[in-house]
Amino acid sequence: MNTHEPTQHNRLWLQRVLAFEQTMNTWGNELFKIPELGFKEIKTREKILSYAKTFGLKLHQDFGVNGFSIQIGEGHPHIGLVAELDALVVPNHPTASIDDHAAHSCGHHLQSVIMLSALGLYNQYRDPKLKGTITLFCVAAEEYINLDYRKTLRDEGKITLYSGKQNLLIENAFKDVDLILSAHTMGSTDQPMIELNSRLSGFIYKKIHFKGLSSHAAVAPHLGINALNAMNLTQNAIAFLRESFEEKDMVRVHLMSSLGGQSVNTVPSHTILEGYVRSINPDSLKQINERINTASHHSALALAASADIEDTPGYLPLIQDELINEVLRPHAEALVGKQGILDHQLSFASGDIGDLSMFKPTIQFGFSGCSGRIHGDDFKMSSSQEALVNPVALCLSVFDDLFHDPSKVTKITQHFKPKITLDDFKKLHKL
Ligand SMILES: [Zn+2]
Repeated sequence: MNTHEPTQHNRLWLQRVLAFEQTMNTWGNELFKIPELGFKEIKTREKILSYAKTFGLKLHQDFGVNGFSIQIGEGHPHIGLVAELDALVVPNHPTASIDDHAAHSCGHHLQSVIMLSALGLYNQYRDPKLKGTITLFCVAAEEYINLDYRKTLRDEGKITLYSGKQNLLIENAFKDVDLILSAHTMGSTDQPMIELNSRLSGFIYKKIHFKGLSSHAAVAPHLGINALNAMNLTQNAIAFLRESFEEKDMVRVHLMSSLGGQSVNTVPSHTILEGYVRSINPDSLKQINERINTASHHSALALAASADIEDTPGYLPLIQDELINEVLRPHAEALVGKQGILDHQLSFASGDIGDLSMFKPTIQFGFSGCSGRIHGDDFKMSSSQEALVNPVALCLSVFDDLFHDPSKVTKITQHFKPKITLDDFKKLHKL
């Protein structure tokens, strides 16, 4: 009898996960109540490592501040799992921490439970004859917030870049991994769902300093150089550029002024325009940013002012590996039906999973089972079947598929073309 017949094998894994649902629920609730911000996930880390002991698993390797890995098996295929540890600042959330108002309004607490349970259950029930490794990377600081604190960590030499996964990339943590699986809440939905192949935008944070010359605004404006006018001319130039943005690239340029001048009686000598340039297409992100820089320099120059531009790379766009998602698809359909699959959504949001997807075949499937507004003060899990059981069962079926037939992994790795080298990534971040 073929014990690897898909429906039977799905059912078997689902039964094992259902027997574990109560424990996953307890873990999810415990993590929900101890939210911590990026690079401060000390209690969260301790909890997850204590849960790992339930499966007889332990810490494999430390990464930077609070990041760590847990590993099972040996040799290839080597599947990397990614779970995010951090919470957001949401002051009115019922579970918000007293000190810095951290709350799990992005569902990252569920990711840790899903990935650890998938790893532990697979280890418990795996066919010992099958070769392969699974490494769970629990990573700090996905949310791009609290940057002053992160700057301090950087000055102290504790981190190199501001996000957890970017630091892991710099450490070459995924060097031996063939492909990467991750999962993220979809927020609230009307029915049980699983999302495949969604894309996230990349962004560059920019700060433009316009420099002019101060002079009496009423008596001697002819002796000054107006940096506010230079900023306004630049904003107009950017507005004129907008008609050249292509819809398919999903470009957003959202800016604000954080300095408009020095005093009302003086010609402004220094103004600041700052914000994000976003696009779902890594090439257009780069090109449009360059055009904005050119427009800024020339607009300033047209008025005898100058523009000093600070560009800080944020996250790169998430481009999911469709071949991995094709391995997920039949199992996802078995769990939520064809009508429950949401495919190829495009988002203006960004995440550092995007950076990983430029280096390795990567996916981030979405799961339902939460209610309230994502990033809002009413966000919580509403169905453990959808938010824990389904994602874990999906991961287990996929591990089993890939370990039974490693040629699927070879096909994925051979087909994948990295979009950036580690050297270029370092150059991008001026390292
Ligand atoms: Zn998130």
